[in-house]
Amino acid sequence: MLKLALVGLGASGLFCLEELAGADVEVHVFDVGPRYDKRYACPIDQGKLTVCPPKACSYCAPGQSAGSWNDFKVILSASPVIGGRLYELVGEQELQKRLDKLRKLILHHAPVEIPVVKPDQDDLDWIKKRATLAGMTYHFQELLHCGSDNAPAINTSILTEIIEKGPNIVFHWDTKVLSVSRKGEQFSVVYDHYKKPGHEAEDSFDFAIMSVGRGGANWLTQQEFYKALETSPGQVDIGVRVETSCYFTEEVDKRFYEPKLYYITKRSGDVVRNFCSNPKGFVTPENHRDYVLVNGHSKMYEKSENNNFAVLVSKTFTRPFKHPQQYSQHIAKVTNMLAGGGPLVQKLGDLRSGRRTKSLTNNLIKPTLEAEPGDISLAYPHRILEGILEYLDALDKICPGVAGESTLLFAPEVKSYPDSIVVSKNMETNIPNLFVIGDSSSWTRGVGQAATSGMLAAEGVRRKLKEAGKQDKWTLPVVAQPAPLVPTMASDNDGLVTDVPLIRR
Ligand SMILES: Cc1cc2nc3c(=O)[nH]c(=O)nc-3n(C[C@H](O)[C@H](O)[C@H](O)COP(=O)(O)OP(=O)(O)OC[C@H]3O[C@@H](n4cnc5c(N)ncnc54)[C@H](O)[C@@H]3O)c2cc1C
Repeated sequence: MLKLALVGLGASGLFCLEELAGADVEVHVFDVGPRYDKRYACPIDQGKLTVCPPKACSYCAPGQSAGSWNDFKVILSASPVIGGRLYELVGEQELQKRLDKLRKLILHHAPVEIPVVKPDQDDLDWIKKRATLAGMTYHFQELLHCGSDNAPAINTSILTEIIEKGPNIVFHWDTKVLSVSRKGEQFSVVYDHYKKPGHEAEDSFDFAIMSVGRGGANWLTQQEFYKALETSPGQVDIGVRVETSCYFTEEVDKRFYEPKLYYITKRSGDVVRNFCSNPKGFVTPENHRDYVLVNGHSKMYEKSENNNFAVLVSKTFTRPFKHPQQYSQHIAKVTNMLAGGGPLVQKLGDLRSGRRTKSLTNNLIKPTLEAEPGDISLAYPHRILEGILEYLDALDKICPGVAGESTLLFAPEVKSYPDSIVVSKNMETNIPNLFVIGDSSSWTRGVGQAATSGMLAAEGVRRKLKEAGKQDKWTLPVVAQPAPLVPTMASDNDGLVTDVPLIRR
């Protein structure tokens, strides 16, 4: 019987597994993180900590699968520019078909009714006129915002269903895959316990699906097979997290929740875009061990009086420069250095007048994240800051007040994407039976398309199995299934203990 290794169970891995449950292949799932029902909510959100622990906790770093646990906003529209590039790979119809399936699955497993945000014709006329007058381009999207508070229940419920219909699946939780290499026509996978190493094991597989996310992208480049893959340079996005009053953005929030507005800078022609809006949400740190970024999220129940969103300037480099990820990480580290090790915050008015922000006392906008007041211009390239300022001035024409003196800019907010791996429509690389899905392939940038890429890979594997005439049903002799997922208190994870009850259906 054929065997498949699925390395990483984040957004792409989970929906790949959903398609493979019950298939005629023995699937071994490896994830650094603990079982889903043992994952916990961010301790800062829960008021248990005020700053990130010195060591990256698994909420943002490997083990927590980021966006499908944090905010959990899902773009449901097949767009050529938003959420990834699968539109380019499979076309609008094929992408939309899978996004529709994803919508159904998430809504089915949601513990409460989650509204789909879909602008109507009046909204579209409203934004088109204003965006054009502001020199911006609006991109349509339908959106599902599950919220950080509903994420554990949804993910755990989906996984429970997969376990029920998938006797062919073996789980290796808390397990880090150390290496994947070619061994004849097979793949050798070496793995060990993540927190208590010293139990290294090796196994061979006929298929390997790599779904290690952005966090595992660098690890991917160090694997034996990587040099044999066809790739092209990845992109970086460098920007800030803007926090302003929810009253300035009220109208667009009500109509769109998150309107995707793109802007081309006057001098350098760079593309600047907004990303990850969180009306009435919270700014949050994103701890990567070597550096701390900022991010944002919002909840279904607890609300702030602010809105936060990222403004990002996109850059793709050409020869001879080959290290876009290190470039953006350097900017992040210099920003952290200026702030004494964490994120930095500056009032927009201070940035414009070239002075450091010294205090936020009496500022109109009260920050939802405690960060060191400082001067972002000491860390960021002029061209990037120019793009951010031009963007905010344009946005101010749609949301008056946004570019005011007291609007807060948190830094560093950078996104670096791995090199783009050349794949087939089923995410198979030029190495037969090796698939790379989700953000580590660089084809996706969000939960929606990451999940879609997982479905595409699973369909590819099923097709191969069918072609190979392996359709006879088989039963695994003894499969070590995890204990049933039952209501529990979230517990120990990377040394952090919380007593946050997980939400259950
Ligand atoms: C803080 C934050 C918030 C976000 N919010 C949103 C949002 O609201 N909406 C949205 O669309 N996108 C959001 N994103 C982006 C989104 O998380 C990603 O696009 C998406 O998760 C990509 O899915 P993936 O499967 O490629 O990777 P991931 O979901 O990151 O999953 C990768 C998995 O691989 C595992 N792994 C990595 N290396 C190894 C290894 N060597 N061995 C074993 N396991 C390994 C990790 O533990 C992880 O579980 C957010 C990102 C962050 C960081």
